[in-house]
Amino acid sequence: MENFDYVIVGAGSAGSVLANRLSEDGRSTVCVLEAGPSDWHPFIHIPAGFMYTLVNPRVNWLYTSEPSEWTGGRRIAAPRGKTLGGSSSINGHIYNRGQRLDFDGWAQRGNHGWGYADVLPYFRCTERRMAAEADPTFRGSDGNLPITDLEWRDPLCEAFIEGAVQMGIPRNRDYNGAQQAGVSYVQRIIENGRRVSAARGYLHPAMKRRNLTVRTHAHATNLIFDGKRAVGVRYLKGGRNGTPVEVRANKEVILSGGAVNTPQLLQISGVGPAPLLKSLGVEVKHELAGVGENLRDHYAPRFVARVKDAETINEKSHGLRLVGEVLKYALTRKGILSLNPTLIYVFWKSDPAVDNYDLQFTFTPASYKEGVQSTLDDFPGMTIASWQQRPDSIGYVRAKSADPFTAPIIQPNYLAAESDRRVLLAGMKIARKLISSPPLQKYYEREEFPGIQAQSDDDLMTAAKQRGTTTFHLMGTCRMAPDSDPTAVVDDQLRVRGLEGLRVVDASIMPTMPSANLNASVLMLAEKAADMIRGRPALEAVTLKD
Ligand SMILES: Cc1cc2nc3c(=O)[nH]c(=O)nc-3n(C[C@H](O)[C@H](O)[C@H](O)COP(=O)(O)OP(=O)(O)OC[C@H]3O[C@@H](n4cnc5c(N)ncnc54)[C@H](O)[C@@H]3O)c2cc1C
Repeated sequence: MENFDYVIVGAGSAGSVLANRLSEDGRSTVCVLEAGPSDWHPFIHIPAGFMYTLVNPRVNWLYTSEPSEWTGGRRIAAPRGKTLGGSSSINGHIYNRGQRLDFDGWAQRGNHGWGYADVLPYFRCTERRMAAEADPTFRGSDGNLPITDLEWRDPLCEAFIEGAVQMGIPRNRDYNGAQQAGVSYVQRIIENGRRVSAARGYLHPAMKRRNLTVRTHAHATNLIFDGKRAVGVRYLKGGRNGTPVEVRANKEVILSGGAVNTPQLLQISGVGPAPLLKSLGVEVKHELAGVGENLRDHYAPRFVARVKDAETINEKSHGLRLVGEVLKYALTRKGILSLNPTLIYVFWKSDPAVDNYDLQFTFTPASYKEGVQSTLDDFPGMTIASWQQRPDSIGYVRAKSADPFTAPIIQPNYLAAESDRRVLLAGMKIARKLISSPPLQKYYEREEFPGIQAQSDDDLMTAAKQRGTTTFHLMGTCRMAPDSDPTAVVDDQLRVRGLEGLRVVDASIMPTMPSANLNASVLMLAEKAADMIRGRPALEAVTLKD
């Protein structure tokens, strides 16, 4: 048995940040357990490798969600990264923080220190914003992760933006600045044509420190308790048939396994809703009804149009053209292999009367077979996706068995809330206008999916049921909330309620969905948690004008 000051389960977005910050003093001993392998695979680092890692069991847990009414009874893929960097090693590279109201909402729910003014300094400290016009009130310049602008330009993207502008949606130079609303090319965590995951930005630079130990192929199977105190972690070295090992934490055990695996590990270790644990035959060490509840995700239907008189990524990714693109990437780090899956973002309202921008749209001059993002269509195509930014639908993650290698039940209950369906429908109507706007007409041949025969609300909801997918933003399953909230799992210091020596630091703690893809917020919250764990004062809140 070995002893460390801190044992971190999971080397994903949050775990990588923590590993770096907690070992920074050169004295504290830190052990990180990662179930997956090292992140050596080239397709992790080549941006277009996204399509490969999305379906590769070596680096992806390849979960699926349970069928539900509004997915038309389909199971939806729920990929999660399983390698150093976790989901930041297989994600779509987008950097998007969300809106001021998201974090003010967290604070208003009684989570002290989590308002926008409090979290903004932590967003800034994660990033090295590579843009000439970055506003220092909002953007950081010397953090671990480079945030770059997409340089790609093509006639379809330019026409799409022009069409949005003609619809009254303004261009926005920085959707991570003062205002999110508008249309713009995406900001990405890519530098010199290569992905910069949390592992590349935070973990690898720290791995030369002697006080940091990183174990790959180390699947945590149980937490070890002494009464109400977490004192260590049991793991299997080498996976299911591997060697059992125990590591002890002198100070804290920190769970950073992500929104699916963290609640599962808690539940099979005896922390969670008592009826569930009993049904699994797990001894209840500490009852906490909220563990695994409050799951939320973004659900996105897509419109696909066939393109004429312009080239799309689809044609460039087949046959000899692809060979040329591979050579181009090898020599210049440019071309389609340097692209992330979506190129343009729009943030807008479902209704002018709505106070806060509740819709997100993505555009890309490419399309996918059956809408699944791992295979491009054979015809020239372009795609727009849209989703409700702050879904009300709530689901759960529940262990199916006490066996740590059995995938848990993931039920996001997509679109169960009427409000989500209403906003989704409004979004689909705007999306169709955006992809067939006057400036795009010269390239627009016809709508391939769902097809212009789909006009009524029922038709559109049928299309959403047929091909809607996750946008990969599972969160909320170990919710941060005040004690008065029966679903509270952690307090605002991210300590598991009622236990000692145990924190959760990952996407599970988010009380509500930010109006964003999640990686930026996870990095932010891990930086903030590192200060809490080290007993350092929080970074000074930013004074913002109303
Ligand atoms: C395909 C995909 C695309 C996405 N695209 C974007 C995007 O473009 N922009 C964006 O902002 N967000 C995106 N996201 C979301 C974002 O990347 C995640 O929300 C974020 O990375 C989650 O961070 P985390 O630390 O909570 O968990 P993760 O990064 O998933 O890390 C969890 C880690 O814990 C390990 N682990 C789990 N269980 C155990 C165990 N029992 N023992 C040991 N190790 C364990 C896992 O293997 C993993 O490495 C995407 C996600 C996915 C999956």
